[in-house]
Amino acid sequence: MHRSESYIGEGRLEVICGPMFSGKTEELLRRVRRSLIANLPTVLIKPAIDTRYAANDVVSHDKNAMPSVVVEKARDILDSIEVNGRPALVVAIDEAQFFDDSLPAVCNEIANRGVRVIVAGLDLDFNGVPFGHMPELLALAEDVTKLHAVCVETGRSAHFSHKISGSGDTVELGEKDKYIPLARHAFVAARKK
Ligand code: ADP
Ligand code: MG
Repeated sequence: MHRSESYIGEGRLEVICGPMFSGKTEELLRRVRRSLIANLPTVLIKPAIDTRYAANDVVSHDKNAMPSVVVEKARDILDSIEVNGRPALVVAIDEAQFFDDSLPAVCNEIANRGVRVIVAGLDLDFNGVPFGHMPELLALAEDVTKLHAVCVETGRSAHFSHKISGSGDTVELGEKDKYIPLARHAFVAARKK
C-alpha cells in the first residue's frame, strides 16, 4: 500500500496552547517541518487578521518563518487544504483564537476525513478567561500540549498573558509592548494594580 494511503483514516486533532511567547508557533512549525520531511502534503494556515510580521508567512517571535495560506473565515479552510491538486494529509493552523466560532467544527470535519490537524492558539485571553472557542477545540482534540513562557517578573513558568497597554478589546494584536507573560501570582498581583 502507498504510504499516504495507509495514513488516511488516522485523522486526529492536536492542540498546542499556552500564553504569548510560550513557543506555540515554534512547536507548530517544528511539526510542519517534520511532516514535510516525511513528504506528506502539508498546508499551513493563518487568519487574515494576523499581519504582525509578514502578510503571508507564519513567523515566530524568534523570526522562524514558513509560507502559509491566509484565510479569512474558518469555513474557508475547507477550500484551502490541497497541495498541487492532492488533498493535504496534514493541516496546521496558527493563531486559532482569532478565527470565528466555526473553527472547532471545521477542524473536526477535516480530522474525520483522515487528516492530521494541528492547531496552535492562546488558551486564555488577557483577563485569564478561556479564549472564545479554544475550550471546545481542547475538548475535541486527541492530544493537547500546554506550553509555558518564562514569567518576566519571577522567572517562573508563565501561564498567563498580561496586557500592559492598549485597549480593553479581547482581540488586539501586539507584542511585548502590549502583552507580557506572567506566572499565576504575578498575574494576580498585576491585575490588582
Ligand atoms: P508563541 O507563538 O507562543 O507566542 P513563539 O513560538 O512565537 O511563541 O516564540 C517563542 C520564543 O519567544 C521563545 O523561543 C523565545 O526565544 C522568545 N521569548 C521572548 N520572550 C520570552 C519569554 N518571556 N518566555 C519565553 N520565550 C520568550
Ligand atoms: Mg504564535
